[in-house]
Amino acid sequence: MSKEEKEYDGEVNPLDNMMSQLRNAREHIDISDDIFERIRYPDRVAEFNIPVRMDDGSVESFTAYRCQHDDARGPYKGGIRYHPNVSRDEVTALAGWMTWKTAVVGLPFGGAKGVVVCDPKEMSEREIEGLTRRYTKAMRSLIGPEKDIPAPDVNTGPQTMAWIMDTYSIHHDYTIPGVVTGKPVELGGSEGRSTATGTGVSMLADCVADYFGKPLYDATVAVQGFGNAGSVAARLLDEKDANVVAVSDSAGGIYDPEGLDIAGVENHKEETGQVTEFRDANQITNEELLKLDVDILIPAALENAIGASIADEVEADTVLEAANGPTTDEANSILVERGVRIFPDILANAGGVIVSYLEWVQNTQRYSWDEGDVHEKLEDRMSESFEEVMEAHESIDTDCIRTAAYTVALKRVAESHEMRGLYP
Ligand code: NAD
Repeated sequence: MSKEEKEYDGEVNPLDNMMSQLRNAREHIDISDDIFERIRYPDRVAEFNIPVRMDDGSVESFTAYRCQHDDARGPYKGGIRYHPNVSRDEVTALAGWMTWKTAVVGLPFGGAKGVVVCDPKEMSEREIEGLTRRYTKAMRSLIGPEKDIPAPDVNTGPQTMAWIMDTYSIHHDYTIPGVVTGKPVELGGSEGRSTATGTGVSMLADCVADYFGKPLYDATVAVQGFGNAGSVAARLLDEKDANVVAVSDSAGGIYDPEGLDIAGVENHKEETGQVTEFRDANQITNEELLKLDVDILIPAALENAIGASIADEVEADTVLEAANGPTTDEANSILVERGVRIFPDILANAGGVIVSYLEWVQNTQRYSWDEGDVHEKLEDRMSESFEEVMEAHESIDTDCIRTAAYTVALKRVAESHEMRGLYP
């Protein structure tokens, strides 16, 4: 895979985006320069060269990273992404967003992220397993249940976590389930983890509907990205009688103003690998989907989906960010100015890390909860976090809900650093 660093020609660098979000929040809270100086940089970014024996007998080298952003509040926590187009800055931004996310929902974790620059769609399962095991070996001294706990992200899932857990355990001579979350349930994974991010998004939609007195019933919804986060959010909102009119994936989108049969779309995606050409739904582009006049827009794909060039044409009333970093800072300002309510990634997609935390607690206790227990705990934490963010929003002088969420997170991280002090 190419070792050249991704260039951001005309595109927003996600790290600049994350730093702007942080600076916007800092204007509203009192944090000393010393503390801000410490938390604006990641603790470390490790870069690895991962050689893998390919099926044709050749050896290919892949660039990989693990960024550990901040652990003042607890072990580093964050997913692992396999994608052909990811930079060191992007992994740093994604790790930072984990720090603010775990803080805003009050989990005793810090933030981290891992990335392997590869195209899993072009690789066999055996090659992906080899890559995963070698990457785990490279990260072995950095990760661990009390140090840094990876989880799934784009193009990784329970099987990837099983390989990481196995490789890590072999190197330690005993089985250590708590080194990763998002494992298969049979290996110590939590009930409800595989659907947690989308479930959290749908719970947030309920909170927003109650708060603004606008029921979900018949609310129109468009979802960009029909993977783990987006497809579950679409299905659960459909089950709550919202009207999911459009969904998309990297191949394009589909639209039916009368509402899509989401279970049917899931089957179609399962069979064909994409959502396009579903029955007689209209074909639309991803950009057209983002501009649809819907009540709720859910970006659930990748960073920078909503940039300044289309922010003026976004017609949704509410944006629930299931993806990490889908809205650039400039686009965010335009949308806020236009009265669009944006519920930021660090709150909206926190369901995944909340249930990851519950999985980690279960592993630590060698105990397991049933799906109902997990669901209830997730719901409590999502609604408490929503209330805390809205209280902050009401108490500070900003129309931006993202900034309010960041003030909650930043305060918690800054206070932890303050209390721990600076060694030596
Ligand atoms: P996934 O790999 O399961 O799905 C990603 C989806 O996005 C796929 O349907 C893919 O086709 C689509 N996609 C990719 N590029 C696209 C593009 N340019 N336009 C439209 N669609 C595109 O990944 P996921 O786990 O669902 O993650 C999606 C987002 O949610 C990411 O930003 C991720 O960081 C975030 N997230 C995921 C979790 C989780 O638990 N999986 C938790 C928190 C946040």
